Amino acid sequence: MHVGGMTKRTAVIAGAGVGGPVLALWLRKAGFEVRLLEGRGAPALVEGAFLGVSPNGLQALSGLGLDRDVTSRGHACRAFEFQSHTGRSLGGFDRSGDATTFGWSLTMIRRGDLHGLLGEACERAGVAIEYGKRLSRLVPSPADVEVFCEDGTSLRADFVVGCDGLRSTTRALGLPDAPPPTFSGLLDVGGFVRTPDLPFEPGINVMVFGERAFFGAFSTPTGETWWFHNGSGQLGAVENQALRPRLLELHQHDPAWVRELISATPTLLGPWGLFELDAMPSWSRGRVCLMGDAAHAMSPSAGQGASMAFEDALVLAQCLRDVSDVPTAFQSFERLRRPRVDQIMKAARQNSNRKAPGPVGRWVRDRVLPLVLPFAGKGQSRAYSHRLDFEQRVG
Ligand SMILES: Cc1cc2nc3c(=O)[nH]c(=O)nc-3n(C[C@H](O)[C@H](O)[C@H](O)COP(=O)(O)OP(=O)(O)OC[C@H]3O[C@@H](n4cnc5c(N)ncnc54)[C@H](O)[C@@H]3O)c2cc1C
Repeated sequence: MHVGGMTKRTAVIAGAGVGGPVLALWLRKAGFEVRLLEGRGAPALVEGAFLGVSPNGLQALSGLGLDRDVTSRGHACRAFEFQSHTGRSLGGFDRSGDATTFGWSLTMIRRGDLHGLLGEACERAGVAIEYGKRLSRLVPSPADVEVFCEDGTSLRADFVVGCDGLRSTTRALGLPDAPPPTFSGLLDVGGFVRTPDLPFEPGINVMVFGERAFFGAFSTPTGETWWFHNGSGQLGAVENQALRPRLLELHQHDPAWVRELISATPTLLGPWGLFELDAMPSWSRGRVCLMGDAAHAMSPSAGQGASMAFEDALVLAQCLRDVSDVPTAFQSFERLRRPRVDQIMKAARQNSNRKAPGPVGRWVRDRVLPLVLPFAGKGQSRAYSHRLDFEQRVG
């Protein structure tokens, strides 16, 4: 059955997670007819834990007015503090001036709330998210692409963009030579909890390089604490019911508040394996292109994955608006985005490698970190200062 007919300048976007809705909104603004397909049957409003949208990501959203939605539903981060497993301060970054310097602060937001506000923005703009439409087959031709969904529906479009995340089907079908994602060796667990008397104030990302695992916590002004744990582990080896004792054991020699948070959390979220994608030979082939995690999934340690998807969406829509030949527009997109994405990926990998070293590595890390942290803070500021302008034409 056909779910749509072909018109000129028609885009199919596979995936309405973080980047897909934003791309749909930009493409609509640029005059494209957009079909936004989402494999899930319904909006994911309570899924996952939380993430940080950085000033550069908010700047990339600002032309759509979405920066305000994110900042009003999220909470500004005004500092990062790093501690060793003994609770000794290893240093930190003061981010209280970011709103003045960059226009926005790093904003921590629940993933479900981010999905919710993106869905509402699509609704306001008249972009329907078609739930239950999981892309499963692509038949590209020089003139267009035929897209098939698991439910048997099909449609044709001038091009397809895979915003379908880490395990992208668009990637597997459209760029079959692409390397599969590699497991970083780290598992992520998260939680939301209300506990009084924490030894830090709201608005600060407190990061503990624990004895055996890494722990991050952020308290909101509304009295909740959002936390995550990153530790070595094997995929599928930890059942959810065994999770709490395992986390308590891994953090047994870390500051007591870490274990208090884990113990008090009603529902543990995860574990999720942390993966990244090795550099792809290319992000597009013919009329099929990838962006966001589908093209360059990175360790969450740089806190930039979602923001990279927002930047991608703006630049990809610019290229498709200004370069009439679709494959050439995709190549322009990659040429414009690769250097920045590669740089951020490198930083993310370095951060990730510091999270679960052995005893010797830990000893070195705790001594070296205070020396390198000021440079890391400057690197973070460089990443935050990136600016994009949708009105600017690309060649
Ligand atoms: C634990 C963790 C913490 C993170 N923390 C941060 C952070 O602090 N800051 C940050 O910027 N980033 C963070 N990230 C990374 C960030 O979540 C991702 O980079 C971001 O979600 C990528 O957006 P995306 O649109 O490319 O993919 P996703 O958001 O993963 O969306 C993909 C969508 O595609 C859909 N889909 C999949 N297959 C199909 C198909 N075949 N057909 C149709 N739809 C399909 C999925 O259902 C999903 O809705 C974190 C990631 C993890 C795992």
